[in-house]
Amino acid sequence: MGEGEEMNYKQIIINTLIIRDGDFCQICGRLFSDISPPEIDHIQPKSNGGSDLIENLQLLHSICNRKKGGKKFIRPVQGEHPNSLQKASNLSQNILEKANLFKKDLIKSTLQENNWNETKTAQKLGITRRQLHYFMEKNKLV
Ligand SMILES: [Zn+2]
Repeated sequence: MGEGEEMNYKQIIINTLIIRDGDFCQICGRLFSDISPPEIDHIQPKSNGGSDLIENLQLLHSICNRKKGGKKFIRPVQGEHPNSLQKASNLSQNILEKANLFKKDLIKSTLQENNWNETKTAQKLGITRRQLHYFMEKNKLV
């Protein structure tokens, strides 16, 4: 894996976690943009047998991550965090927009990797060629 690909992979994980959890730190509940960029953390530490699967990952501020150390941290149930209620409504809109942007980026980069071959791209993304083409037309990628 080249350096560029690694960066890309990390960014995809970060985007996926933002879509799942929102763009705030799972420990302090404050936005990443207010403090520092997100850092990927293992919920169950790797030293404790935690996996690299997305289910075991969350986003934290680096400063909150350091405070957490090697301890296991269970993220609060959605709605339980004091900040999550007030943010829930604009967040859901935010998440939808981000999810769409993320999807668009992913599809565009996969198309580029496959020299805009729609059949290969659809295969790689696990969707049908028809679905891909529909998405491309809708997002003016053609
Ligand atoms: Zn934090």
